[in-house]
Amino acid sequence: MISPAKKRIALVAHDNRKPALLDWVKENADKLKNHELCGTGTTSGMLSRNTGLKIKAYKSGPLGGDIEIGAKICDNQIDLLVFFWDPLTAQPHDPDVKALLRLAVLYDIPVAMNKTSANYLISSDLIDIEYERHDMQKETI
Ligand code: PGA
Repeated sequence: MISPAKKRIALVAHDNRKPALLDWVKENADKLKNHELCGTGTTSGMLSRNTGLKIKAYKSGPLGGDIEIGAKICDNQIDLLVFFWDPLTAQPHDPDVKALLRLAVLYDIPVAMNKTSANYLISSDLIDIEYERHDMQKETI
């Protein structure tokens, strides 16, 4: 599984974490504009309105957006997930959140769940070059 030099980056934030993700996207807009961005409905709308970045919108998270992004991961269409989930509030679509995170691990997708991990990922040398991800299905014991 190859992640191309131009990464397909999914951006998702629960409501209480949207301001933090917006701040992070603004701080990193110069780097992010070189990649292909997508996100769940409300997150991507809010980010595009406030930054001018082009972001493909999937459905809103509670309406299946996390699952849509998970399906894109299965199809090798996502290379990096920035998911600012809310550690203090229960979500009605918690099973979908778990499914998305599970698929990200299964397909060896780097995931940032807070500002510092997102900073580490976006400043990695690997962000702008092709990268071969690990295929867990080929593991032997
Ligand atoms: P939203 O979904 O961007 O539509 O708010 C995010 C989520 O709750 O997973």
